[in-house]
Amino acid sequence: MKILVISDIHANLTALESVLEDAGSWDSLWCLGDLVGYGPDPNECIECVRQMPNLLCVLGNHDAAALQHIDPDSFNPEARQAILWTQETLSPESIAFLSSLPQRINSPQIDSNPALPITLVHGSPRQPVWEYLLDTHNAGNNFDYFETPYCFVGHTHLPVIYVRLETQNLTHLLVPEPETILQLTPRAILNPGSVGQPRDRDPRASYALYDSEQNTWYYRRVAYDVEAVQARMQAASLPERHIRRLALGW
Ligand code: ZN
Repeated sequence: MKILVISDIHANLTALESVLEDAGSWDSLWCLGDLVGYGPDPNECIECVRQMPNLLCVLGNHDAAALQHIDPDSFNPEARQAILWTQETLSPESIAFLSSLPQRINSPQIDSNPALPITLVHGSPRQPVWEYLLDTHNAGNNFDYFETPYCFVGHTHLPVIYVRLETQNLTHLLVPEPETILQLTPRAILNPGSVGQPRDRDPRASYALYDSEQNTWYYRRVAYDVEAVQARMQAASLPERHIRRLALGW
């Protein structure tokens, strides 16, 4: 089974559509949260994702904030402004969809593949909505908080892989090159990067295809029409800084 793994769409429909086109055919969509926040198309992105076949989707911190589960004051002023705009813009159907999202999912067992199930969370297995996995120390500690061979995360907007070498009590950070197919070995925490707001100085939308039969991770980047998204953000009076960063990927 081919699984399209995406995260941090952040209401960027143009980036999402480019990823869906670039990914070709696949069997299931797994989305690791933050469908909304920052970008101009929250309802359109939710509408697009919710009708995807065999969808698994977890709740992100921006999704929780849009549902008013988190005090907007816990975000920086510009993120808060974007959250308040998103709250005003979300349709009742979008709110219902976000409200249905769990914080953590164990994927179904498929074809008796020993690599499955896989744990899906937005931030980390220890704190599914909030924790950022930014270094090997933190990531290493998080291997105690899930039992499956692999855990897929988002949240940092950085496409990375943390590989655990249990016998040596070591965790390695792997930053894959785009367009590479990696053979996975247990255990690992994998981040496909961000569709709608990459932060690794590469503005192209980021995603991965997980092949559950081959047990491979195919990490890809795809260019999209950033200016079109910036124009819609401008029209919605979203923060200037969020508009600028899309072109540079930070
Ligand atoms: Zn995010």
